[in-house]
Amino acid sequence: MQADAPQTVHLADYTAPNWWVEKVELAFDLHPTATRVRSKIRFKRNPDAAGRDLHLDGENLSLITLAVDGKPLTNNEYRKADTSLTVPGDTLPQDAFTWEAEVEINPEANTALEGLYMSNGMFCTQCEAEGFRKITSYPDRPDVMAPFEVRINSDLPVLLSNGNHAERGNGMSVWSDPWPKPAYLFALVAGDLVAISDRFTTRSGRDVALNIWVRRGDEGKCAFAMDALKRSMRWDEEVYGREYDLDIFNIVAVDDFNMGAMENKGLNIFNSSAVLASPETSTDDNFARIEAIIAHEYFHNWTGNRITCRDWFQLCLKEGLTVFRDQQFSGDTRGAAVERIGNVLSLRARQFREDAGPLAHPVRPESFVEINNFYTATVYEKGAEIIGMLKRLVGDDAYYKACDLYFSRHDGDAATIEDWLKVFEDTTGRDLTGFKRWYTQAGTPRVTVTDSFKDGTYQIDFEQVTPPTPGQPDKEPQLIPMAMGLINPDGSEARPTQVVELTEARQSLRFDGLDARPIPSLLRGFSAPVILDHSPGFNDRATLLAHDTDPFVRWEAGRALTRQTVMAMLTDRAAPDPAYLDALHMAAANDTLDPAFRALVLSLPSQDDIAQGCVDAGVVPDPTAIHHALKALGRSIGDHMEGLFTTLYDRLASDAPYRPDAAQSGKRALRNMALRRLTPRDEATRARAQFDTATNMTDQLAAFACLLEAGDPQVAAQFEAQWHGDRLVMDKWFMLQVAQAEPKDAVSRAEILTEHPDFTMKNPNRFRAVMGGLTGGNPAGFHDPSGAGYRFLATWLIRLDAANPQTAARLSTAFETWKRYDADRQTLMRTELERILDTDGLSRDLAEMTSRMLEG
Ligand SMILES: [Zn+2]
Repeated sequence: MQADAPQTVHLADYTAPNWWVEKVELAFDLHPTATRVRSKIRFKRNPDAAGRDLHLDGENLSLITLAVDGKPLTNNEYRKADTSLTVPGDTLPQDAFTWEAEVEINPEANTALEGLYMSNGMFCTQCEAEGFRKITSYPDRPDVMAPFEVRINSDLPVLLSNGNHAERGNGMSVWSDPWPKPAYLFALVAGDLVAISDRFTTRSGRDVALNIWVRRGDEGKCAFAMDALKRSMRWDEEVYGREYDLDIFNIVAVDDFNMGAMENKGLNIFNSSAVLASPETSTDDNFARIEAIIAHEYFHNWTGNRITCRDWFQLCLKEGLTVFRDQQFSGDTRGAAVERIGNVLSLRARQFREDAGPLAHPVRPESFVEINNFYTATVYEKGAEIIGMLKRLVGDDAYYKACDLYFSRHDGDAATIEDWLKVFEDTTGRDLTGFKRWYTQAGTPRVTVTDSFKDGTYQIDFEQVTPPTPGQPDKEPQLIPMAMGLINPDGSEARPTQVVELTEARQSLRFDGLDARPIPSLLRGFSAPVILDHSPGFNDRATLLAHDTDPFVRWEAGRALTRQTVMAMLTDRAAPDPAYLDALHMAAANDTLDPAFRALVLSLPSQDDIAQGCVDAGVVPDPTAIHHALKALGRSIGDHMEGLFTTLYDRLASDAPYRPDAAQSGKRALRNMALRRLTPRDEATRARAQFDTATNMTDQLAAFACLLEAGDPQVAAQFEAQWHGDRLVMDKWFMLQVAQAEPKDAVSRAEILTEHPDFTMKNPNRFRAVMGGLTGGNPAGFHDPSGAGYRFLATWLIRLDAANPQTAARLSTAFETWKRYDADRQTLMRTELERILDTDGLSRDLAEMTSRMLEG
């Protein structure tokens, strides 16, 4: 049978459906290989639509019966293709009808983990974006919203779906969700699960039952997630005035899951790595990530579920806004400055990288082949930056007023970016036509800064350019909110923060009445997702690092000095400047600064960051040289600050009971940074002692990484012996061994690990641990001049694609920077991309990604 040719879908082609859905009733007879799904759907004519044909989506369904208003449809009364089913309008009643269908599906054969599938004996679902069509025939598009009633028949003890529990009996359960929702928010879970339970009373007095469902044995790892859930529910009431709207909220942990978690109405499904936590098995970073993801999925209840997206091009409407909200929550919980720096690090590492390569696309894309390929850093993280800029431009009061208007005006709607911007225009009277370009124009704007000082007047000139991206050769200037202040040479503040709106290609600003030439403190709080091209002298940067009132600019000044040092080591073989090491020492020794902040100042840029720095400077990056330069810099910092690191290491030791809060995590981060720098100097004795005696995973894993890097021959086996029964800890073991290997050994280490009995392609976390350990964790190993890293990854992506296209496509982005490198590496990478693209039966997910990378 010939498969349908992949179709490109365009935003401009959107039309409303011919038929709306008023009510959905589903009944499942669960069976691992032969699940029966009966659907009863009430359709109502869309009076605004031109046509009357009924278009339903459906994939991998065995049709058993179809009927309209109780009359079975004969074969010639509908047309069935691979992925669709059409009933001509002239065979349908005029205004409304009831559709009934029975289909059979095979959850066990569903290795793509989209639709209904099995994970360790439990049934679970993932329907976003287009998985519901693998469950039954349905108009699987987000603008079709309806209340659902779901009956589950199964002998399994726990049977869950969306909404409130309507009925339960022997071997059956009925769930009723009163809130109209699109099919992508449908969920079903059935299995032998146990719950930890709690309650939450909303501010208007609704008593909500909270449950986190896990496999037996994991009950002890849910307390933190439950606490984070309750804090998220309270925060959304206090900050956005949003209350929960059902009597029950369920979270389920699933081992085999493509994403982090999914916000299905009233039944959030989580990758177990994003919910299970204990001090012994989870790091501080794991705790912070779990808290953020719990908040994110919960916040979707309003931004995503009650108000959803009209079509998938509007994905940023729910994701950008919800990421922004979870970042606000984490900032309020864990400290705004450190949180903001972490967000910027992630944005630059993932989104700036995407914007600079062949996969660049606008926050609201114009077309796609496979929507799963657009769950990207651009849609999520740059989407969140746009909300942050909007808030800065209109001010806090107007921002929350506009949000209130959005919630009241669009509750129950499938909305668009235009709807979102309109509530801001209506609230503030401001024309946001120019601002909208942030949604439609791809690429990271580069702002070049020059300045001059004469007779007490300081002039600063900004010039902005957005480089061409695939399909968008010419760019318009963006509206850039530039938060800036001025610092005196002695470090005091000459002018407080003001927000300058850059709207032109070139713009100037003057400050009068200054006694001395000031130091500009630019892009405070990282007020816009742009690259700042500004090269102040060493002394100015050192002054900003020591004195700026804005913590982001302070950190950024230190980071710029470090990048400059690494670049000089690479291009001039220069040793690190002692003045730089002194400036770093001063910041690291400053006890008035938060330890978490000091750990961030001491952290080195990633290898990928330096590689991009080389490209910006017109130098072809050499991954091996970058690896050695960063390692040498780490050693120089350790040599220069041995005394300070020894003091910090001893003084920050603590016997206090473990808490994953910001204060304790910050101290551990700084202490483990000291450990890392001391390890080459003390023959790893501290790391060995810490590994052997650690009582929490943060400290044990930090020591483990140091020992692996130092070449300790026993530590990997010891770690495995201790943790082989814990899936999530073993993911760390798989990942770190590849990440910390000598680059020349990294590919063979990864190959050996794929032979390990616990390695499996079926579990996305495990697969990502080994592949990501190489591509992200060990860039010099991945880019080994032999091309072995490229061949290894391509071979595994081809294998995985046959089972799980979505995860294969996502991991293929390791190749997105291929044009950055020398001709030999480019040839090797292009050969592997072409080999992937030539594979028979390649999924549309991976085919779209590889062809975009080759063509872009
Ligand atoms: Zn989300």
